[in-house]
Amino acid sequence: KAKSIGRGQAFLYVTALRLDAVVRRLYALELHRAVDEGEFLLLYQPQVDLITGEITGAEALLRWHHPERGILSPITFLPALERGTLAATVGTWVLDEACAQVAYWRRNGAPNMRMGVNLFGAQFHVGDIVTEVIETLDRHGLPPEALELEVTENIAPDNDDVVLNSLRQLHNYGVGIAMDDFGTGYASLSLLKTYPLTRIKIDQSFVHGMLDQEQDASVIRATLDIARSFKLKTIAEGIETENQRHYLLEKKCMEGQGYLFGKPIPAAQFSALIEANKLSNELA
Ligand code: C2E
Ligand code: MG
Ligand code: MG
Ligand code: MG
Repeated sequence: KAKSIGRGQAFLYVTALRLDAVVRRLYALELHRAVDEGEFLLLYQPQVDLITGEITGAEALLRWHHPERGILSPITFLPALERGTLAATVGTWVLDEACAQVAYWRRNGAPNMRMGVNLFGAQFHVGDIVTEVIETLDRHGLPPEALELEVTENIAPDNDDVVLNSLRQLHNYGVGIAMDDFGTGYASLSLLKTYPLTRIKIDQSFVHGMLDQEQDASVIRATLDIARSFKLKTIAEGIETENQRHYLLEKKCMEGQGYLFGKPIPAAQFSALIEANKLSNELA
């Protein structure tokens, strides 16, 4: 009896594994189609000056417009995308699309607008990311400071020199480099001396907790102190309430991003936001 249960479990286990492999293959096929058919799109989330509310930049956030399942968020497909080299192809598209968009906004009402673009690890290992970024900026007539590349520590496991050297070249060229989700990784402090950074993005988990949990508030204050001593700019992610905005301002965090100021929206809607922002700042 015991034996048959064991066999049954083994069967279930093997079936589950096979199913997983099948689902993965299906997903890989679908992702290839998505690239070929242009099913990806970018939404843009405003980044604002916490004092004036003025829009300082946008972060480009990837979505997959799946023909049957509608608009999918990155958590559903990034793991599958990042398993292969397809991520590099998508990354190239994201970079070009986001740069075209910010070039348009800089010509139409927001001359100092900055664009945040998240990078995939694969982009450092397929082709030459340094040349690609410089050529993309040139193609769209953008100065390097119009672009801010967002990286996490996952992008350079074991401080991979290939990745860090590329980032150093881009940093020297004048492109912004932001450490995303700061405080959530294993090596947050030590990476401050290995990564060439211009900005720290304070992870939203600390922002969400900081008014109730002293530990989260401590992480926020410590991060802002460290950023000051390393002469890095900061931005807080995930700001949803006025109280959070006030607390961050009191601690001298000058920029923010979050639902309080705007969710990720399509480019056309963002253009309207820029117009409204300009008007309210002219009136103020
Ligand atoms: P991230 O770069 O840390 O982006 C911030 C995420 O927080 C976004 O989720 C955004 O929609 C969400 N968010 C912004 N404000 C708030 C808020 O006030 N409250 C809450 N609860 N959430 C907020 P999203 O768009 O689902 O993206 C998730 C992650 O997927 C991103 O995290 C980034 O790591 C990755 N990702 C998105 N687009 C790209 C891309 O083009 N390339 C790469 N490599 N990764 C991307
Ligand atoms: Mg980001
Ligand atoms: Mg983040
Ligand atoms: Mg994240």
